Amino acid sequence: MTKEELKKQVCEAIDKRYEEMVAFGESVFAEPELGYKETKTSAKIQKEFDKLGIPYTTGWGLTGVKGRLTGAASKRTIAVMGELDSVVCRRHPSADPVTGAAHCCGHNVQVSDMLGVAMALKDTNAMQYLGGDVVFFAVPSEECIEIEYREQLMEKGKIHFFGGKQEIIRQGGFDDIDAAMQMHVNPTDDPEGDIRINARCNGFITKLIDYHGHAAHAAAAPHEGVNALNACMLGVMGVNALRETFQEKDHVRFHPIITSGGDLVNVVPDFVRMESYVRAASADAMKHYNEAVDRALKAGADAVGATCEIKNMPGYLPMFQNQAMCDLLEANSNEIFGKEHVDAQPPFDSGSTDMGDISYIMPCIHPYVGSVHGALHSAEFDLFQKETAYAKTTKVLAMTLIDLLYADAASLEGILKGYTPLMTKDEYLKFMESLRSTK
Ligand SMILES: [Zn+2]
Repeated sequence: MTKEELKKQVCEAIDKRYEEMVAFGESVFAEPELGYKETKTSAKIQKEFDKLGIPYTTGWGLTGVKGRLTGAASKRTIAVMGELDSVVCRRHPSADPVTGAAHCCGHNVQVSDMLGVAMALKDTNAMQYLGGDVVFFAVPSEECIEIEYREQLMEKGKIHFFGGKQEIIRQGGFDDIDAAMQMHVNPTDDPEGDIRINARCNGFITKLIDYHGHAAHAAAAPHEGVNALNACMLGVMGVNALRETFQEKDHVRFHPIITSGGDLVNVVPDFVRMESYVRAASADAMKHYNEAVDRALKAGADAVGATCEIKNMPGYLPMFQNQAMCDLLEANSNEIFGKEHVDAQPPFDSGSTDMGDISYIMPCIHPYVGSVHGALHSAEFDLFQKETAYAKTTKVLAMTLIDLLYADAASLEGILKGYTPLMTKDEYLKFMESLRSTK
């Protein structure tokens, strides 16, 4: 069996499984769960692995599932990943009425595509032609949300990081993996759908900011109060005054929300809580701008005589994809999507993903697949290009996997030979700890 014949057979197998893949994706879409709570979704994956006869382990980042298919010669291992969690988007028509959870980031497609690769490799007995293993990793909690809930999980010792992939790195779940891949849906105007290869994106530091003032009657005795809301607003204005110092190359973002802004309109607010990220395009820039932002936030408190407590916590790292793997993905995408639907030099993405963390310790690819109308995380989110999201994408991931592992996995070996990770696992864990501070 030549490599090209194997790719062709695997693509045909994906076509045959198409309806099943869409049905699985839609079943996950119908029961959205938030990060570190994805028990039903995790059970669905386990059931599919059972059906396919794929051995797996559970408990990775609480709900993660790690399945493995063994190649003819198990020289290397590539992970195909899918994220289990959804976002909160109460206005989305599909939102869970109790939790507000909705799959407005399309992670349901990721887990389905991951299973589609597994199905196709199984259906074609492809592993006998591959010189390495394939891990199918359903990973929890990509969205960095519900910070207070996750802090409680941390206090109970159940997790150590907000991000599921981060937690699994810490647990050692990636220790036996050499390279990783996963897709992510993306908005597009292209009616046929498109694929963005090798996009870079921001990393971030997570912040909880508490302003403490002094309560007093807001009309009768405001002079006896210290207004925590004014302190907070001045803090935000201070950061706004810094924005002219944010360099374009660093792609800095600061986008706070106030989660507690006072209890009663006729009382001077004595407590205001704000959540934000400081995002930037490199690990150094993240630290640099975060220091400046902290200074400005504190100045808001100083101005009115309030106090400010800032808790900094590790968010995600910027993403740097592997060029050689991207080149393989691009060639396969040209074939399946058509060259006019492939963008191999996409604009910088100022968002973030914990795939960035993976990209620091091993080569990876994370294509953004244009298949959605409406913004990610919004009530307008609508997956209009199912064939692109489910069939075409699964094909290009499977084909790239075959390129990397075919025969004696020479292609992946070649990539790993010239590869130095941005950080070792130990350096990564140390760096993440260095981001924690309370001021
Ligand atoms: Zn997402």
